[in-house]
Amino acid sequence: MTDEGAAEAVTLDTSRRYLVPVARLELPGEPDLVHLALYQWLPRAEEWVTGLALCGRSTEQGALPDSTAVTCLRCEAYRPKYQAVLDRAPA
Ligand SMILES: [Zn+2]
Repeated sequence: MTDEGAAEAVTLDTSRRYLVPVARLELPGEPDLVHLALYQWLPRAEEWVTGLALCGRSTEQGALPDSTAVTCLRCEAYRPKYQAVLDRAPA
């Protein structure tokens, strides 16, 4: 993995999945939290999409900037497990 820092300049590898901050759904009663979700390239749609939050909640589509703090503790609790799996995945 390279470590170039600048968030906007990073070119993502479409063969890999990433963990990214995602926004909660704009629904009444939805906890005001920033979640963490898997981010992956969909070749058919030719775009990056986010999945369910690691904690299982539905979220808004699209990644927030990398610098956004994840405030969902359940997502954070799952992060090491997911990160380990992603780090092991073949490039
Ligand atoms: Zn969450």
